[in-house]
Amino acid sequence: MSPEDIDRACDSILDAPGKALTVEFQGGDPLLRFDLVERALDRISMRSSDRQKRIQFVVASTLHQLTPDICKSLKRYGVVLSTSIDGPQRLHNKNRPIRGKNAYERTIEGIALAREHLGPGSVAALMTTTRESLSYPEEIVDEYVKLQLLDISLRPLSPFGFANSRSAVLGAAPQEFFTFYERAFERILHWNREGIQIREGQAAIVLNKLLHSIDAGYVDLQGSCGAGTAVMVYNYDGFIYPSDEARMLAETGDTSLRLGRIGASLSELKAASPMLALAKHGTSSLNLVCRECTYGGFCSPDPVMAKAQFGRLDAPVGATDHCNRSIWLFDFLLIRLKEADPVTLSMFRNWARPRQ
Ligand code: SF4
Repeated sequence: MSPEDIDRACDSILDAPGKALTVEFQGGDPLLRFDLVERALDRISMRSSDRQKRIQFVVASTLHQLTPDICKSLKRYGVVLSTSIDGPQRLHNKNRPIRGKNAYERTIEGIALAREHLGPGSVAALMTTTRESLSYPEEIVDEYVKLQLLDISLRPLSPFGFANSRSAVLGAAPQEFFTFYERAFERILHWNREGIQIREGQAAIVLNKLLHSIDAGYVDLQGSCGAGTAVMVYNYDGFIYPSDEARMLAETGDTSLRLGRIGASLSELKAASPMLALAKHGTSSLNLVCRECTYGGFCSPDPVMAKAQFGRLDAPVGATDHCNRSIWLFDFLLIRLKEADPVTLSMFRNWARPRQ
């Protein structure tokens, strides 16, 4: 992204009405052009205090390029890091091949460096489930415990963009993923009983909605999809997209969800035709199937996912992977809650608490 576009993007982000905003830098790897990241951190920090906004900065990175100097700068702006750990060394390196075949080792070094300079809670991690992962749910959870990463999000391979073209090879069929998820879930509960406070991210969102009086404010699983309303993506191609998934669709040639050029005002973006279509097809109260669904208050159709899966925003909601996965997860957790003994119920209540 050009420096001028970065400045325009920063100014437009600060026009968002919310008082608390999260600004996340994603790549490629943002640390490869940390000079540009620093430019944005500086500009947003300088201008946000005038507008009385609280900004949480996140940099998503393999951490392979992290240095003590970069850590010093991240500390100045209160940045937290998000990285990827797919499981133990062999699995991670197989999922993320690089020259040298040491992606895992370099990320582990980066985590250690970040913790040394930025503190023990400075790094979170995400994992992606591939066909290769399916046999190792316990080992993947154990890896997170070993690395003291106490939030694990068990996610299937994304059906978008580059991942979509390989998903038939790498991805897991829904039932295989559910079996994998159940085994990993059991392992997490095992560690909870041992006193380790690890929790699974998707389950924590649902349990927050079911058990807690304070909504943790997660973008996922709301009554209307957050694309373009809770999320906006400023891309290196100079355009703005309503979500990262919409940006990934554009990478494969489908630019129909572009909202406008960087520099467009928020009101212009809100009035863009993709936004109107997303609102129409992404609100549970406007969809006949969702209106009849038990989980309609907690969930909404995901038209961007529908576009990736079927090529149209208005695909039948019940046929989408998003809907099937949501129903499965809600059903699974309700059964687990019904069967829970007092100790397990108290563990679920811990999961449901919004994290500080
Ligand atoms: S689970 Fe499916 S039908 Fe129910 S609200 Fe979510 S998207 Fe709609």
